[in-house]
Amino acid sequence: NIFNGKVAVVTGAGSGIGEAAAVLYARYGAKVIVSDIQEAGGTATVAAIEAAGGQAHFIQADVSDAAACEMLIRKSAEKYGAVDIAFNNAGIGGEINPVADMSLEAWHKVINVNLNSVFYCMKYELQQMTRQGSGVIVNMSSILGKVAFANSAAYVAAKHGVVGLSQNAAVEYAKQGIRVNVVGPAFINTPLLSALDENVKKALVQMHPAGRLGEAGEVAELVIWLSSDKASFVTGNYYAVDGGYLAV
Ligand code: NAD
Repeated sequence: NIFNGKVAVVTGAGSGIGEAAAVLYARYGAKVIVSDIQEAGGTATVAAIEAAGGQAHFIQADVSDAAACEMLIRKSAEKYGAVDIAFNNAGIGGEINPVADMSLEAWHKVINVNLNSVFYCMKYELQQMTRQGSGVIVNMSSILGKVAFANSAAYVAAKHGVVGLSQNAAVEYAKQGIRVNVVGPAFINTPLLSALDENVKKALVQMHPAGRLGEAGEVAELVIWLSSDKASFVTGNYYAVDGGYLAV
């Protein structure tokens, strides 16, 4: 078991990709801190991990609140003794509007939840990991951290920001035994896409050379690999998991 004795913290672990990753971390032996703003999803993920024989604990936190991120990392280390792996995954969609029509509220909300949150979580994770002398961080971006998508400027800006933020942290902490990487999924079948109508989903499928959307588990597999010692020389980079989306 590649994560025996390791502690993994996953934000947004009550649903979708975060849930899939939390379940896999536990399957490979990690003790998992399942964090989410929503209690129901978080406790359901913990129950699923425990039912499969794994170890997990739920900590509720709104990652757009810096104090909540500090509390999350402090309590995680108190609970299981360390934070070896952090998957900063929580995120939201956003208002669908061109730039001139996007509301200020929608802009700030998406930047807070999808970008500022990653800075807050990393700030406290890196403090903990430098004390430990090791650690691995995987941050959630998107294909929209590399290319544009009309009517989604806040989301695209936040996800591009996560790429730069992650690369900067990777450079700063590489000599301290801490790796930081970013994953960029294309469109993945999760509750995040439930707001889209069927015609939009069909059009999205056409944009993927694979001819389908991805599944949460397919993203989680990449996250697991980047989190493991198999990726020991891998830091400061962006990895797409996109059915060919960015190649077109
Ligand atoms: P999801 O909606 O299934 O899961 C997101 C989880 O994050 C939910 O459980 C939600 O409660 C939680 N969350 C939302 N706001 C939060 C906050 N402020 N604090 C803490 N938790 C919060 O969505 P998903 O598709 O699994 O998305 C996970 C991540 O993957 C997001 O960052 C998303 O932008 C990114 N992503 C998703 C896709 C996709 O197509 N689904 C593609 C690329 C990137």
